[in-house]
Amino acid sequence: MSTDALEQLAQGLAARKVAGLARHRHTVASRRGAHLTVEGREFLHFGGNDYLGLAADPRVIAAAAEGAARYGVGAGAAHLISGHFAPHEALERELAAWVAPCANARALLFSAGYLANLAIVTALCRRGDAVFGERLNHACLNDAALLSRAKFTRYRQGDLDALGQRLAASRAPRKLICTDAVFSMDGTIAPLPALLELAERYDAWLLVDDAHGFGILGEGRGTVAHFGLTSPRIVYMGTLGKAAGVAGAFVAAHHAVIETLLQTARTYVLTTASPPLLACALQASLAVIRDEPQRRRHLQALIARFRAAAGTLPWRLQASATAIQPLQVGASAQALDLSDRLWQRGLWVPAIRPPTVPRGTARLRITLSAAHADADLSGLLAVLTHLACGP
Ligand SMILES: *Cc1c(COP(=O)(O)O)cnc(C)c1O
Repeated sequence: MSTDALEQLAQGLAARKVAGLARHRHTVASRRGAHLTVEGREFLHFGGNDYLGLAADPRVIAAAAEGAARYGVGAGAAHLISGHFAPHEALERELAAWVAPCANARALLFSAGYLANLAIVTALCRRGDAVFGERLNHACLNDAALLSRAKFTRYRQGDLDALGQRLAASRAPRKLICTDAVFSMDGTIAPLPALLELAERYDAWLLVDDAHGFGILGEGRGTVAHFGLTSPRIVYMGTLGKAAGVAGAFVAAHHAVIETLLQTARTYVLTTASPPLLACALQASLAVIRDEPQRRRHLQALIARFRAAAGTLPWRLQASATAIQPLQVGASAQALDLSDRLWQRGLWVPAIRPPTVPRGTARLRITLSAAHADADLSGLLAVLTHLACGP
């Protein structure tokens, strides 16, 4: 390999560093609920997506261990070859019945939400079709649109008039609207009823990415249920590594959509099935989501308390009713500085900077979880109040 090629990489990395865009990882040595041991110190974590505290729930862990004992660790093949196990099949049925985006919905498991979104968009749209995506959507929906080769149009946050005009003007044979149900960096909820109306008026599919709503909103059934919607046009994507606490994702939709994904989606057909032990863990996790509404109530109480107290802080609070409660700081350097000061005090809260969020809107992405005790939140609020008074 020529040294020029390596030199180019080195220059690119150096430029990132100078621009303050270099990223690095912290290594977690152990965990107890939201308390993590990192680099020899204990931190209280307010930045993850384990909104119900299920990632380390003893029942979920036990189900995973029993699953490993029974089925082994790896699936050993793709679902369509020999990697589709009884717990995968049972979990798909449970998820379809739980989320029920339309009558007689089916569900299909994927190894990651990223792969599920690539599958849906490329299976429903191809060259000559049209995909419409909200600007704040997760980047994997944009990647999926590009991969499909359809014409890709992004509409401004909540700008349904613009979306309607674009849909009306489109002559594409197939149209797909994609949206995050809960915007991952804002915590705000997409106007799904209005989006479904547009989808019906213009004969489009509606892909709902519910990575941050599944398990939480709609009594745990997700954001489509939260709004009481059902339609064969809805293609629901829920991830299983956030509130469900494990890993993977699923699509729930009309059986013709699911069968099309199963037959044709390359990120389904050409990849090894997720370990069956994870499906076992997820059955246990789904039982908790179903049977323990008190976890959601505790989370809601933390959210209400946080919002009441954070209103007096100098940073802009987003209009979010969900577990994602970002404080908008503005400049990247200031967001990083606040995140550092919190870190020094044993609180892990990530700073999110452009290009993940729009320029000038760098923020602390605070997330709350049922794993947090009331006293944990008091600790966070006390430190934020102290930092607001200056260095
Ligand atoms: C996390 C996330 C994904 C990706 O899901 P993974 O299972 O982590 O690959 C997709 N969409 C949104 C909105 C997300 O937040």
